[in-house]
Parts: sequence; C-alpha cells; structure tokens
Amino acid sequence: MAQIRLTNSRTRTLERFVPIDASNVRIYLCGPTVYDRAHLGNARPVVVFDVLVRLLRHVYGADHVTYVRNFTDVDDKINATAAARKAAGAPGTLEDLIAERTEETIGWYHADMDALGAARPDHEPRATGYIAQMIAMCEGLIAGGHAYEAEGHVLFAVESYRDYGRLSGRSVEDMIAGARVEVAPYKRNPMDFVLWKPSDGDLPGWDSPWGRGRPGWHIECSAMSHDLLGADFDIHAGGNDLMFPHHENEIAQSCCAHPGSGFARVWLHNEMLQVEGKKMSKSLGNFFTVRDLLDQGIPGEVIRMVFLGTHYRKPMDWTEAKREEAEKTLRKWRALTNGVEPGEIDEQVVYYLGDDLNTHGAIQALHKLVQDIYHHEKIERGGQGSVLVKSSVELRAKLKASAQLLGLLTDEIGEWAVTASVDLSAYADALAAAREQAMATKDFSAVDALKSMLLAAGVEVRMSKAGVDLSPKPEFDAAKLEAL
Ligand SMILES: [Zn+2]
Repeated sequence: MAQIRLTNSRTRTLERFVPIDASNVRIYLCGPTVYDRAHLGNARPVVVFDVLVRLLRHVYGADHVTYVRNFTDVDDKINATAAARKAAGAPGTLEDLIAERTEETIGWYHADMDALGAARPDHEPRATGYIAQMIAMCEGLIAGGHAYEAEGHVLFAVESYRDYGRLSGRSVEDMIAGARVEVAPYKRNPMDFVLWKPSDGDLPGWDSPWGRGRPGWHIECSAMSHDLLGADFDIHAGGNDLMFPHHENEIAQSCCAHPGSGFARVWLHNEMLQVEGKKMSKSLGNFFTVRDLLDQGIPGEVIRMVFLGTHYRKPMDWTEAKREEAEKTLRKWRALTNGVEPGEIDEQVVYYLGDDLNTHGAIQALHKLVQDIYHHEKIERGGQGSVLVKSSVELRAKLKASAQLLGLLTDEIGEWAVTASVDLSAYADALAAAREQAMATKDFSAVDALKSMLLAAGVEVRMSKAGVDLSPKPEFDAAKLEAL
C-alpha cells in the first residue's frame, strides 16, 4: 500500500498518515458561507483537498472514504444581502429572500466547483439542518462547565479548556492583545466566543432554552462533523485563514463536548492565493471570482492545473504566464490521450502525492511520461517493431490515468480542448490507397505529398501494418487541409 505523509498543523510535523479505520477514512473540509460567488481563493482548498480525497480513494478504495464539506447557510452576511434586496423592493418576506439567496448561491457554488473538476463530497450538510444538534451541544457544554448563558447568548469559556490556542500556537493573553476581540459586557473573558445568539425581528431564529436565536459560526462545523463522522475522525482541512479563531474554537467545543475524544487527528491548512504577486483585494482591482475567469473563457481545467502547480502549503500566485503555460500543456496532453482508455497509474505520481500532497512533483512526473511517449514515437517512426508501438499506447494510457488522479484529463472537464471536430477519414482512406498503389509501383511520391500536406496542417500521421491513423494535434489548422 502506498504511503501517505501529511504535515499536521496541530503537531507542526510531517507525519505518516494512519487512518483510525482503513475501511472508512473520514475527512471534513470547511465549506463556504453561501452569500455570494466563490472568489478564486475560496476555490483553492476545494481543488487541493479534492486531490487528497482522490489519493485516499486510490489507496484505501473508492468506497472506503467519507468526505464531508458543509454549507454555512445561516450567517449575518446572508441576512444582510437579503435585507438589501428587500430594501430594494424585492417581493417576499426576509425569510423567503434569505432562502432564495442561499439556494441561488449553492447552485452557483456547485456549478463553479464542478467546472474545476472537484468531485462532490459524500455529504454536503447545511447548518440549518443541524440546529437541534447544535442546541444539544450547547446544553452539554453548559452542563460540563465549559459554557455559560448571558443575556440570551451562550458563550464558550476559553479558560475552561487548557489547550485553547494550541493549534495556532497562541496563548489566551497573546490572543487578547493581538486580536480584534469583540468586547461585550456579558463576556467573562474577552476571548470567550459565541455558541448561540439571540435573533430578533424577522431575522432567522429557532426556539432554544435561551430564547429564540441562531447559532454562532464555529459550533456548526463541530455539530455537523460529529453527526456525520463521529467524535474522532481522520482529517480536518481548510484554508489557513481559518486556523484562528474558527478551527481553534471547533477543537475547544468538540473536545469539551465529547470528553475523551481528540476530534480530528490531522489538521491540514492551505496557504492563501495571490494575483501577480499581490494579495487579492477589491481595492487593488485584482479581485475576481471563479465565474469571472470561466466567463473570460479560461477553462476550469486550466485553473485547476495552475493551482496544482504550487504546493498547498506555499502561497499560490495566480499569473497570466502560468495560465498560458497550463493551457498549452493541457492541450498537448489531451491530444496525446485523446480516445485512449486510462491504464495503470504511474507509481511516481502516487509517490509525490503521498509525499505531503506534492502536486508540483506529480505534475513533473507527468511531464516525464510525456517525454517517454515522444521518445518511443521517435523510435516507432524509425520503423522499429510493433512492441514499441504497443509501449507508446501503454504510456499514453498511463499518462491519462495518472493525470486523472489529480483530477486532470477527465471527461467531465475536457469539453474545451476538443479540437474543432473534423472528419479525417477521407484523408486516411486516400493515404491507405496511395500506399497500396505505391507498394506495387515503388513510386512513393503521392504518399509523401499527401503526408506532408497533412503534417503541415497539424495532423499526426501514423502508418502501420494495421492501417493509417490520423489525429489532429493541438496546432491543427483545418484551413491548411487541401481538398482531395
Ligand atoms: Zn468549519
């Protein structure tokens, strides 16, 4: 079995990954708050950890991995968006408008992440479906002395959990000094965070022992992961901007609510995304959503390839040059594997992915496979035997299967690279007929002329005893095909 090593943020070390239960490897990724389109940075963890899930399924079996990613569908930003629509005269109650906004955003999210070739998780829980579990968790935390009620709020008492701050490596004192802490008179300690808060007016709310209210953000992930994955599970992942306070708070709540459990064993955090060396921000005018790029005609597969060119623990710089390079490479790889059934997966690719998800290394291994293919093609053209022809087909099949482990060269996201559909069968027939005639007359000039015309038009010509095989290359230009 291939070995997987991952850098665990909790221990700050590269550890050999050993699942709690190899027949059910469990992973949780913090999903989006559904109030607007996902920006490019939001998509990075989705793509990166999609590769991890593919690797886990490859190593432990497709049916032995459970992948959960939530939707936060109760949040003040969603409420604000809906309220703005209502103020602008949109019909319906605020509740209707909130529901409309979340449905719309979830639809967008699915479409955008599908376009990037990210497989849908096994479970996509919505926070509003788990309110009862969140209330039960709050009650348990109060009973255990880890939380308290104050003015309709339920707050987690950070001093009740000794390890608070361990994930992000901060002490409570440092956090108070460095963080923008919401100071509220009902808090015992400024770092105490909200588990439950009151809802008034027409804001979404649920009945609870503390009055009508709604959950705080952090408790959602704790309640949903517990319900779907259990108190202890293997991997919890997210962007490193979530490490504090979100993940720190998830750990505190979950470990205190379920004494004796350690919550997630391995914590993985991806670094942030930049654009042309600068932080993406609305004020710099370099802020864009995944949809913006797709609408500009940049294929989702190209975005995915650019993402995977950088290791997940390093800042990822989105540049025009990388986009161009990725597109060129993918066109070449797609042309090489067009119509080929995926074969064996290259061990080198598995090795690199198992080495702390070294996607950059895995892509280098794919480039190496392409070099091998070209090398064999050259020998084939030199007129060597059929064994070598076979090996080249096998290499193409290997390239396709190995790239698919990274979610590249899959059918779902390949539409963009389909070269202008062109029927080359008439040319193949003509070439075969010309060759047959040449065998008899020993005059190959007609064969050569036909071949050079096809090559000039960017057609790959393969002639073997079995027949003539023509396929358009990335540089194929139909205008250069001469009529027969
Ligand atoms: Zn979360």
